[in-house]
Amino acid sequence: MTVYLVGAGPGDAELLTVKAARLLATAEVVVHDALVDEAVLRLAPPSAELIDVGKRPGRPVPQELITTLLVELGREHDTVVRLKGGDPYVFGRGGEEALGLLQAGVAFEVVPGVTSAVAAPALAGVPVTQRGSSASVTIVTGHRQRGDEEATDWEALARVGGTVVVLMGVAERAGIASRLMDGGRPADTPVAVVERAGTAAQRVARCRLDELAALDVAAPATIVIGPVAALDLRPLSPSTAGVRTGRLR
Ligand code: SAH
Repeated sequence: MTVYLVGAGPGDAELLTVKAARLLATAEVVVHDALVDEAVLRLAPPSAELIDVGKRPGRPVPQELITTLLVELGREHDTVVRLKGGDPYVFGRGGEEALGLLQAGVAFEVVPGVTSAVAAPALAGVPVTQRGSSASVTIVTGHRQRGDEEATDWEALARVGGTVVVLMGVAERAGIASRLMDGGRPADTPVAVVERAGTAAQRVARCRLDELAALDVAAPATIVIGPVAALDLRPLSPSTAGVRTGRLR
């Protein structure tokens, strides 16, 4: 009678934690998001019921309904796995689900996952910190919420410096870039945009901050802004040996 809020990592099934894989293998029900890969879902037994709450025709199931569903399932089944992309508590609304389960008196456990905020840059050859270059990482959502009082103060963030990792920022990238520049981030600050990290469709695009608005990118993508975005530390293959420099600006 436990609901496990499990992080599925950025996409590659091998980036699941051992605990996530073990729980999936014993799940009676798996409630998952749209971004969770098929290969990960295949780790659940054939008898497990898979519920996709990421996509109803065109739109996701409202959060309150997901929480209510988890409460009901948690009362009926021994092992319910709520599988979320990346880490469940990094912009995954896992905290709201945990709160709902707590209030309903349903046992739950969080199983942290590899967040795309760190893994997407890494898989694109970008370390989010680098000695002498970036001593901090700020993970921020680019998604604007109506009436959101916690809306990000991008100009203040620009003054913090270091690395800025923007999740859910593709649609708002023009505004984000201009506000960071208004706050003092140089126009030539390196940017790396990583689409679908950890999947076969992974794509990395690089530009300067003043070019981000015009960059051709599609969600889901992670945007990395700061000197580290100029690095390209992917393993050398014979075809790229000696071509990439990985130099810091
Ligand atoms: N809880 C998740 C984030 C949920 S918000 C985590 O920890 O990773 C969803 C956003 O995460 C997307 O809009 C995108 O910015 C980022 N994201 C998720 N999966 C990604 C992937 N495979 N590659 C790049 N970015 C990804």
